[in-house]
Amino acid sequence: MTVSTMETLPKMPDNRTYLDYNASAPLLPEAKDAMVQALETSANASSVHGEGRAARAVLERARGAIAGLAGVGVDHVIFTSGASEAAQLALSPIYHHPDGEIVFDKLYVSAVEHPCILSGGRFEQPEIIPVTKEGVVDIAAFAETLSNRSTEKPFLAALMLANNETGIIQPVAEMAALVHAAGGFLLVDAVQAAGRVPVDMASLGADFLILSSHKIGGPQGAGALLLGDKNIKPTPLIAGGSQEHRLRAGTENVAAIAGFGEAARLCTGRLDHMQEMIYVRDKFENQLTEICKLAGNSHGSLTIFGQQTRRLANTTCFAVKGINAETALISLDLDGISVSSGSACSSGRVEPSHVLKAMGQESDIARAAIRVSCGWNTTAADRQKFLEAWASYLRRLT
Ligand code: PLP
Repeated sequence: MTVSTMETLPKMPDNRTYLDYNASAPLLPEAKDAMVQALETSANASSVHGEGRAARAVLERARGAIAGLAGVGVDHVIFTSGASEAAQLALSPIYHHPDGEIVFDKLYVSAVEHPCILSGGRFEQPEIIPVTKEGVVDIAAFAETLSNRSTEKPFLAALMLANNETGIIQPVAEMAALVHAAGGFLLVDAVQAAGRVPVDMASLGADFLILSSHKIGGPQGAGALLLGDKNIKPTPLIAGGSQEHRLRAGTENVAAIAGFGEAARLCTGRLDHMQEMIYVRDKFENQLTEICKLAGNSHGSLTIFGQQTRRLANTTCFAVKGINAETALISLDLDGISVSSGSACSSGRVEPSHVLKAMGQESDIARAAIRVSCGWNTTAADRQKFLEAWASYLRRLT
């Protein structure tokens, strides 16, 4: 008897409204096509025969697209299983240069980094750089920290270009100048920024940069570490074969990388619409404000996190005091709308987000945070559907 496993997989109805791109963007049809084509060449990209060379060609085409996105040479791109792995690879206290080792005595990370950076990788314990209440890294506080360093040894600092929860854009170039002047190196997490703002490594002053495929419309399970100087390399995390310039052993996931490459290629074109997207976001936020006002005094006022700060056009993170985000999420889900809350469930308790806490937000506001994040397939009707469902949710609470 043959059992079809496909039948048992849950399939989402077509009429759902997906507004959770910062968690994972839907797969672009072009990326899917590139993956299906690559799957036809199911050979090892390190093999010398024709099939192997075909797989290698797929890999190198994708590498070219990712290098192009960040304005670096193809031999600066190291493929990994995702940005978390790329971060762990980059967070190495020992780097290698043809002239010898570079040993970092310390890792500094901003308080709003993604957990894959906050964890510190192979460093013992990162030192946290605070952010202002606007959610922007406190450059003055960090300058003070650096001026009190009692050593001239090199160090590593990490700063994200755009925050996954709030969309707040960090002053990376300014940070890079400060870090370099003090003899340090800067790792930039450009996972949420890619395809939404330029991620040119030279303009950012990034020494190392990480990217993730599934945030830009590629498949899950592919990412990359990009090296600003191809001669300055971290200690490998996975040792073995000589793949990826001996920096990441293991047979490359050719199909996933093909999809990643195609998504990266399409990303560049989307930047032209940035200004238009900011207008659309602001209009959406104005409508949201009106809805919350109309709902009256039974709930607290609306906070849109980072509203006065430079932010990604695709992200709106907001809270209405007194509202439980988890309950709201369930209600919206029942209405066919997928969004995220700003809190994380750990050990059975819903914890307010570390990002909002670092911005000095009170726990009850942080617990009420809801994130709406849009992308390549979001329409005006999707935003409208969210606003209507939100208005109806608020009405039901009164
Ligand atoms: N960095 C940021 C800012 C993210 O939002 C994420 C994913 O949510 C990651 C890193 C990790 O990416 P990946 O899922 O590819 O490991």
